[in-house]
Amino acid sequence: MKKKYQEIRFILGDQLNANHSWFKKKDASILYVIAELKQETYYVKHHVQKICAFFLSMMEFAQALSHAGHHVIHMTLDDCEEFAELDELLIYTIKKYSAQSFSYQRPDEYRLLKQLRELRLPNHIVIKEYDTEHFLLPYEEIPSYFTQGKHHKMEFFYRKMRRRFDVLMEKEQPQGGKWNFDSDNRKNFKAADIQEIPSPLTFKNDVTDIIKRLDKHKVSYFGKVENQLLWPKNRKQALQVLRYFCKYNLPKFGKFQDAMTANSEHSWSLYHSRLSFALNSKMLHPKTILDETIAYYKKSEKTIDIAQIEGFVRQILGWREYIRGVYWANMPGYSVSNHLQAKQDLPHFFWTANTKMNCMKHAIGQSLNYAYAHHIQRLMVTGNFCLLTGIKPEQVDEWYLGIYIDAIEWVEMPNTRGMSQFADGGLVATKPYIAGGNYINKMSDYCKSCHYSVKHKAEENACPFNSLYWHFMSKHRQILEKNPRISMVYRNWDKQPQEQRNKVLTRAQWCLENIENL
Ligand code: FAD
Ligand code: SF4
Repeated sequence: MKKKYQEIRFILGDQLNANHSWFKKKDASILYVIAELKQETYYVKHHVQKICAFFLSMMEFAQALSHAGHHVIHMTLDDCEEFAELDELLIYTIKKYSAQSFSYQRPDEYRLLKQLRELRLPNHIVIKEYDTEHFLLPYEEIPSYFTQGKHHKMEFFYRKMRRRFDVLMEKEQPQGGKWNFDSDNRKNFKAADIQEIPSPLTFKNDVTDIIKRLDKHKVSYFGKVENQLLWPKNRKQALQVLRYFCKYNLPKFGKFQDAMTANSEHSWSLYHSRLSFALNSKMLHPKTILDETIAYYKKSEKTIDIAQIEGFVRQILGWREYIRGVYWANMPGYSVSNHLQAKQDLPHFFWTANTKMNCMKHAIGQSLNYAYAHHIQRLMVTGNFCLLTGIKPEQVDEWYLGIYIDAIEWVEMPNTRGMSQFADGGLVATKPYIAGGNYINKMSDYCKSCHYSVKHKAEENACPFNSLYWHFMSKHRQILEKNPRISMVYRNWDKQPQEQRNKVLTRAQWCLENIENL
């Protein structure tokens, strides 16, 4: 006899939250559906590790639910092939199992939320939307913290969150006597530090079948994977990464948060947690991460100081929740913002790492190898380059959204368009995050072995970032000069002889005209 279910519950690839209240009790009248949707592979071209990581974790999640006694179907690309649209797949499944109701967890991405809210299901089907129970700030409260079109200071939001969730607080005061130890987080690596960089915990998760499926269904992708995925595939592995981070990386996390080096075999991972995929797929809850790291800090106060744990807490409780607030307060208009009217195309070397700029070669190269780069590489190397050269924000978004293992629009877009490209006109950052080669030289050892000279601005071998910085400042003078945090920079520029300024701007023009060959 054909099996019937009263309710179909649909789970998206980034909703792998085993502790969701849906799963608190087993109910034989409910069928959970997890599907490898082709539409999710082509809304942007993805890194192969990203597709494999999501598909493998979805399969693992379906198996875990099934072992726990829930009724689940996991549909592969093969099973989904006959359905051109999500509506068709759901209508078929609902009919097949004679279901009367359909439920989903509210997607974190505007595109999918719209799609699910506009589903055309048969009239008699009762549709229910649930919370994902993932974020610390409830979705309904976002409007009371974030206003559309208005800049909110991350620092104030962060303090509210620290108070509200009682994180690193002591008698209502911040532990360690101040809210923010950011100024302690700007160390670069000395030679002795490089020897100590810990190796990252990675896995060898088999993705051979997934790659075969991708190729069979002509899913287009880029990047490398070699059949073994190094990213965690389930909650158990994600917890291992978290515990490994506490032991080996947390002690120096804050200190080297902004540092970069090309001289370690672990240059790509350094002291970063690499927890973003586990978090964004919801295998781990931010509260679990905060509780574990703070508990570890408390029992290791002799070896881990407050600046390290505070630096980490600020990322999870502050930046991550803040970015989500900015996204929901400003969508859908945010996705077309282009405040600086950037018009240039993304150079081809973003897809090959074939560039003479050593910092870019490393940041892009490791992104292609691991689907990962850490924050300062994303912001101050690749992002900085795109901003200085005026790359179209939609192309910058597309690259970041496709290449990174953790890239989901709600977090990628405000980071890219907002923090990195200033395309939102200052909703996230109060001024553009730009820098010449000096900053990169200060925070890394990339410049020492670069084709270009970081000391020069206008000469033939001059670091492109140097002249491009001044070109950007000149081009956007009208907009930026009013900002009191920037006006000083213009005073210094104006003091330089006209001839020198012209030489720098000529060099920048040359760089822009020859961008593909830099
Ligand atoms: P760690 O350095 O170990 O930090 C710990 C955690 O803090 C991260 O896992 C992440 O969850 C959180 N976090 C830190 N900074 C941010 C931030 N600015 N916004 C949101 N969360 C933050 N992060 C994504 O998760 N997905 C993206 O698509 C993404 N795109 C970005 C694009 C640009 C241009 C920039 C500048 C940043 C982007 N970030 C994105 C933020 C940040 O770079 C990554 O979260 C981080 O590099 C992930 O590596 P990690 O887990 O080792 O982080
Ligand atoms: Fe990058 Fe310029 Fe340094 Fe070369 S010299 S690594 S291009 S900052």
